[in-house]
Amino acid sequence: MSASTLMNTYPPAEVTFVSGSGSWLVDDAGNEYLDLLSGLAVTSLGHAHPAVARTLAEQSRKLLHVSNLFGNEHNEALAGTLDKLLGGGGQVFFTNSGAEANEAAIKLARRFGGRGRHVVVSAFGSFHGRTLATLHATGQPAKHEAFQPLPEGFRHANWHDTADLERLLDDSVAAVLLEPVQGEGGVNPASGEYLREVRRLCDERGILFILDEVQTGLGRCGAWFAHQRAGIRPDVVTSAKALGNGVPIGACWARSEVARVFEPGDHGTTYGGQPLAAAAARTVLSVMEAEDVPARAERAGRRITERLTGAPGVLGVRGAGLLLAVELDLPEGRSAVDVAGELLAGTHGTRAVVNAVTPTALRLAPSLLITDEELDTASELVAAAVGGR
Ligand code: PLP
Repeated sequence: MSASTLMNTYPPAEVTFVSGSGSWLVDDAGNEYLDLLSGLAVTSLGHAHPAVARTLAEQSRKLLHVSNLFGNEHNEALAGTLDKLLGGGGQVFFTNSGAEANEAAIKLARRFGGRGRHVVVSAFGSFHGRTLATLHATGQPAKHEAFQPLPEGFRHANWHDTADLERLLDDSVAAVLLEPVQGEGGVNPASGEYLREVRRLCDERGILFILDEVQTGLGRCGAWFAHQRAGIRPDVVTSAKALGNGVPIGACWARSEVARVFEPGDHGTTYGGQPLAAAAARTVLSVMEAEDVPARAERAGRRITERLTGAPGVLGVRGAGLLLAVELDLPEGRSAVDVAGELLAGTHGTRAVVNAVTPTALRLAPSLLITDEELDTASELVAAAVGGR
């Protein structure tokens, strides 16, 4: 039996972090770690960003919460900035998490499609959240089994296979839901051609195209939103993770013709868009704009990719911007989990936080403000951990 009072949903933690600054974390024994994961692509501006900290302190002294029955001074302006970054012409619903943003998108698609047109088609290998509906949208059947029956109305197409997707698109389909780069599924980028083809299929059939940019959005992939690299306009986009730089907030954006099917009473939330989270997110977006994080992510991603491509023990680097997977050439019996564990333990020098996104690949999702020197340390550490087999 576990000695912990926490439910057994994650393996026991090897390290407990107590503070952080920029790309660095400190554990309860005082050890420093180069953070190349950002809490799973959340702290895109690094830890303890001074502007975010100031906003949180000021807002906590001013007003924390009033409910959505009343206005607050931040959520309209925040929605306006998000809408601008998504090309304009839309409206936003705020949530507390990525899964809730996707739930809002699924409910919106059902409301838009109407009775009989409620099915959402997503892709195998995807990840959309842990609530019952987003779990069913998540294209990983092994994760479904313990929780059957799941809500009806979800189908899965093979990833990056337009013929298989087309086969599933009948009159009951309200929306197609995809990640532009599958994050949890192994950092698998969709090509621009695939996304444009899906857009065309949806247009032909009057089906909504929802992009889950919870992990890929807000500069991480070298554009404000990863789908913009393909030059497409989705109908609905979900966001979360980096939006609060660690303060829980998510968003479901939809173009106005879609968004306006929601009427008062159709959907709601106690906390979504509350003053503390919305104030933090406004500061996050304004720092992101001032720092031009998409350009920084693109440049930094290229730098680390160039340094690791062709290094001994590295089969390749895939992804976009600063959402990368390093595919490893590992000897029998050694997995990416072992490599991540060694990096965390400091076996190869500086301690570093990475994630084994598959048994053979490391995910790198560092702060978008990471310095060149830190990036080079990261490449040297990964190369040292996997070189020499
Ligand atoms: N969608 C994607 C693409 C994600 O990567 C995640 C989380 O990893 C989620 C949704 C769920 O977000 P949350 O854990 O905030 O509910």
